[in-house]
Amino acid sequence: ADPTADEIALEDAHVAHNYHPLPIVITEAEGAWVTDVTGRRYLDCLAAYSAVNFGHRHPTVVQAAKEQLDKVTLVSRAFHSDQLGTFAAELCALAGKDMMLPMNTGAEAVESGLKVARKWGHDVRGIENPTIIVAAGNFHGRTISIISFSDDPDARAGFGPYTPGFRTVPYGDVAAVEAACDASTVAVLVEPIQGEGGVVIPPADYLPGLRELCDRRRMLLICDEIQSGLGRTGRTFASEHVGVEPDLYLLGKALGGGVVPVSAVVGDADVLGVLHPGQHGSTFGGNPLAAAVGLSVVRMLADGSWQRRATELGAVLGNRLRALVGHGVTDVRCVGLWAGVDIDPTLGTGREVSERLMARGILVKDTHGSTIRLAPPLVVTADELHWAVDQLAEVLADL
Ligand code: PLP
Repeated sequence: ADPTADEIALEDAHVAHNYHPLPIVITEAEGAWVTDVTGRRYLDCLAAYSAVNFGHRHPTVVQAAKEQLDKVTLVSRAFHSDQLGTFAAELCALAGKDMMLPMNTGAEAVESGLKVARKWGHDVRGIENPTIIVAAGNFHGRTISIISFSDDPDARAGFGPYTPGFRTVPYGDVAAVEAACDASTVAVLVEPIQGEGGVVIPPADYLPGLRELCDRRRMLLICDEIQSGLGRTGRTFASEHVGVEPDLYLLGKALGGGVVPVSAVVGDADVLGVLHPGQHGSTFGGNPLAAAVGLSVVRMLADGSWQRRATELGAVLGNRLRALVGHGVTDVRCVGLWAGVDIDPTLGTGREVSERLMARGILVKDTHGSTIRLAPPLVVTADELHWAVDQLAEVLADL
């Protein structure tokens, strides 16, 4: 019997082929490490696209989930639960905002943020057909409206007709945003750092420039912090690095502690207040289990220690990775514990490097052909990071 091959065959037969996973079948995980069905251990350097920022099965999160499982898990928003209010209040305090709109997945938070921006455009600014500006190279999720403004052909092709009302301009270019604005423009949606794009860090004056532009033209600045937020970059929010506070934060992934899907739109009452009963919702959004888990995550982030850890370990990771430039690596972008590493395309693809790292006990994910992304859980140790980069250096030397 080959439990790895058996599982992969079952998935091949019965799960839609919308992913191309590495050929590992995980059965257990703890902290920064996962174990496959053959008993082999791997250092997780993807952390479920940053949803497992605090490590697999962090005891605080698991404890919160277990306690809530024994009480009540779902009431729908037809009724109140005794969990949502505290979660909302503490998340708002963390973000410095008045209100939150609870959802489940990242894409739902993005969709919800776009709906709020359009509604705000209609109700507050009196605009009949609001437009929203987005950045080239974005990744905000997989719904029809979101892929309508993607410029990734894989994400888009064959899924038309597309949702109108969006304009795409180059990332990192405030002047291009301003040139694309007209009287119908109500919002700018950006990732403060583009994650799926390969950890693309914009010029330091980009977000401040967008903030100034949005204030001047009375538009909403919406920061998608679903991958960049909640400690990953060494701050609670990546936009803090440049001192910018958006009108709406979009949060997801790590907000559910890697246990349940929890997402949210967080903003002030003059924006989120445009929603009235019956105008938006979700059966699972804000459910007591999600709220209890989300609250445990918010409390973990409150004293800044996770953020400091990401900064300190990120310095280790960044220094080691930058030393690989010229040795099979053409560029490294690192912020906090989040790195995009461009592999010299003449040597091999990101996929090849990922497969070879897997053979050495390290899990990473390629993006855009020749880039690999490293985003280990923040519980990883400096020694583990040194070991992982040693392995990467050897893989590159062998290509
Ligand atoms: N926004 C960003 C920046 C993301 O990185 C992702 C997922 O990778 C999403 C939105 C979508 O989140 P989900 O897959 O939970 O819908």
